[in-house]
Formats: sequence, C-alpha cells, structure tokens
Amino acid sequence: MADMKAYVEDVLELIKKKDWNQPEFMNTAKEVLYSIIPVLEGHPEYKENKLLERFIEPERVVIFRVPWADDKGQLQVNRGFRVQMSSAIGPYKGGLRFHPSVNLSIMKFLAMEQVLKNALSGLPIGGGKGGSDFDPKGKSDGEVMRFCQSFMTELYRHIGADIDVPAGDIGVGGREIGYLYGQYKRITKLYEGVLTGKGLTFGGSLARTEATGYGLLYFVKEMLEDAGIDIKGKKVLVSGAGNVATYAIEKAQQMGAKVITCSDSNGYVYDPDGIDVALLKDIKEVRRARISEYVKVRTKAEYHEDKDGSKGVWTVPADVALPCATQNELNLDSAKELVKNGVKAVGEGANMPSTLDAIEYLQQNNVLFGPAKASNVGGVSVSALEMSQNSERLHWTFEEVDERLKGIMHGSYTQAKEAAERYGVKGNLLAGANLAGFEKVATAMQAQGWV
Ligand code: NDP
Repeated sequence: MADMKAYVEDVLELIKKKDWNQPEFMNTAKEVLYSIIPVLEGHPEYKENKLLERFIEPERVVIFRVPWADDKGQLQVNRGFRVQMSSAIGPYKGGLRFHPSVNLSIMKFLAMEQVLKNALSGLPIGGGKGGSDFDPKGKSDGEVMRFCQSFMTELYRHIGADIDVPAGDIGVGGREIGYLYGQYKRITKLYEGVLTGKGLTFGGSLARTEATGYGLLYFVKEMLEDAGIDIKGKKVLVSGAGNVATYAIEKAQQMGAKVITCSDSNGYVYDPDGIDVALLKDIKEVRRARISEYVKVRTKAEYHEDKDGSKGVWTVPADVALPCATQNELNLDSAKELVKNGVKAVGEGANMPSTLDAIEYLQQNNVLFGPAKASNVGGVSVSALEMSQNSERLHWTFEEVDERLKGIMHGSYTQAKEAAERYGVKGNLLAGANLAGFEKVATAMQAQGWV
C-alpha cells in the first residue's frame, strides 16, 4: 500500500517540478492518481513499466499561432492548442474550447479527464482536447468564420478521421464546427468524419446536440432510482445556459422534474414555474443574447446579477443540482448551501464543475454524487456514434441514437458503481469512475509495450 502511494507521490512531484505553472492539471492529476492506488497495488508491473509517468505525459501537444482579420481589417493574433493525450484505446477524441481562459493547463486537465471518460463510454476512442483563447462573444459571423478558417489551417495537419477527431465544447457549437469543417475539406479534399457535432446535412448525427444534457439526466435518474428516489416532481437547479444546460433542462422536464434556474457568466434566472426551454433556446441559440432577456418575457421570473458566475444558483432550495456551465463553479461554500437546503443529488454536466473540497463535503453529507467523467459521457459517446455513421456512410434515426445513448449511460453508471464496490469504496462514483476508466486504459498501455 505505502509503496504505491509513494509511487503516486513521486509522479505528482514530477508534475510539480516540470509543470509547476499548471494548477488545473496538477489538481486533476492529484484527484485521479490517488484514487487509482488500488489498481496499482494489484499490478506492480505498472510501476516497473513507468505506466503513470507515461499516463501523465501527453503523447503530443501542438501550440500554434492563429492570425485573423477582424471586421475593421485589423490583424488579431490568438493562440491555438491541441493536446493529444492518449491513443491507447482509439484515435484521440475530445472537444475544442474557444474561451479567453484557455491555456495549456486547462487543455491538459480536460484531456486527462477525457481519456478516462472515453474509456467509460465503452467505445474505441482515445482522449484529447484543444481550443484557443479566442473569445467568440461579441464577434460577428464573419470574424468567427475567419478565425475558424485560420485555426483549421494549422490544425488540419494534426487531425484525421482515424487520427484525431475534435468536437465542440465551450464557445464551439454548430456554427464553429461548420466553418472548421469547410476549411478542413477545402485544404485536404477529404470528405471524412474528422469533426463531430456537424450539421445534419453534412454528416452530423441526430441527437448529438441533445446528447450531453440528455445523457446526464439518464445517469442521474438511475443514480436516484438506486437510492429509491423518483425524479418526478423534484425541484432541480441547473447552472449554465449553453448546450449542456439547455438539453439537461429539457430532459429533466420531460422526466417530470421542475427546473427552476439557469445562468450565464453575468447572472442567474430563477423561475418558480419552471424554466421555459423554448424561450431559453430562442434567446441563446437564435438571438445569441444574454439570459437577462428571459425575465422580459417571463415576468414572474427573477434575474439576479452575479459577478461570481453561477454561484447564486446554489443558494436556491431544491432536491437536485446539475452544474452545467464550467469548471470550479461549485465550491465548498456552495456545497454547504446545497446540503443546508437538503439537496439529495448532484450530477455534473460540465467538466470538473465541483472543487475537490466541495465533492468531499457532499459525499460526507450523503449527497449522491455523479462525477463528470461518468455522468457527462453522453456527448462524446454520440460523437463516436457520429464517427461510426460517417464510416458507414449511413444515418441512424433519432430514436436509434437515443436508445444507444441510454445504453451507454447505463454502462457508464454501472461500471463506476461496480468498480467502487470491487475496490471497497462503495457509493463513491468518482473513485469508481477513475478506477474503471484507468483499468481499461492501463491494460491497453501495458499490452502495447513501451510507447
Ligand atoms: P456552451 O458554450 O454552450 O455554454 C457554456 C455556458 O456556461 C454558457 O451559458 C456560459 O455563459 C456559461 N459559463 C461559461 N463560463 C462561465 C463562468 N465562468 N461562470 C458562469 N457561467 C459560465 O458550452 P457547453 O454547454 O458545451 O459546455 C458546458 C460545460 O460542459 C463545459 O465544462 C464543457 O467542457 C462540458 N461538456 C460539454 C460537452 C458538449 O457536448 N458540449 C460534453 C461534455 C462536457 P456565458 O455565455 O456567459 O459565457
């Protein structure tokens, strides 16, 4: 036991030394590596083969300049990234994020999470992540298009349908994927499934848009049912108002729950009658406006300005909380608020939205906790189904994709739950997800030799 703990600590020390300026990556590595000690104990050969040293080191990182012209004809320069973390179980797969906060540390933390998440999907996909510090907010369509074209003019060299298949993430939706795909095709002459989240008329999959949010709800429903709780009639808090949040709200309401909040980085909406999803879609997807617009139509709802992102959401009393905006949006204080208000379950839609101390506090207070890498696997899974359809040159129906999504979410939940039981941490789905995901990746790495 002590031996493998010491091994983990040596590897963390290595990160501290080499990547001292990557706090997000360090936090993820800490969380993941400590939780997989039980797997290492059963496999002393992993230490001999320096498996962890390889696991924390991306196979490849590409950082590049992205020059583009704004509407005034001025040159702008951004930084682009692609982290190809692990191809142990399939081609690299993971989203592109366009947000001013993007840096190497965030890219690497997301890529490591993606490796384990993709393993839990049960599909043959490795892990990667990419993006840019470009801020699409307030940019015209022309500016976004020129940026995407310039970004792809470098990225195309590193990706391919059987090499690395990016998708959307924060700031990258259908519009951006369309522009990126157009430029890839133009440069390479290839009409191939190199990006997922494409439009339905050019290789996109039905249910991809809904997949992360719907999948989260399939996961949370099963987690609640296992504890004898019916989601029907429950009050639900959702943060965010983007892709994940919108379809989490939609599915929760289809399941008979009442979602009473949503948010953006300027504030949150509280609607005691339940969020009007059609209105939300109109504001966010059609008008591309701020959610403060919501209360102009739904006058009984309240808008609260919140400089601290979505923190205010967690002060509203409810039964279930679904953070769907961004990382570290639910901290220890928020967790205390949730527990005080009697919340029964937290399901992560965003990537790493809860801080480590918040997760510990929730678990100590018997709040059911669905960790992102298991509960938001729906998006990447339907992306992998889009890759299958592209390879087959076929389109599956919405129902077909949705059925497979349900099966994948059930598989993700059961793997995390069973691994937690097998390794003596029953009920801890976060540890279970790390253990099950790592087992799979490590087995493949071990079989493939020193690469
Ligand atoms: P979107 O860009 O569609 O939406 C993000 C939402 O979160 C927006 O409402 C945004 O508000 C809000 N937000 C962003 N940053 C902050 C902040 N600092 N404080 C408060 N609110 C914030 O992204 P997605 O919905 O696609 O992604 C949301 C999360 O889910 C991310 O963590 C992403 O990595 C994760 N995820 C997404 C998947 C997908 O399929 N899309 C798959 C798996 C995980 P604003 O407009 O003000 O910026």
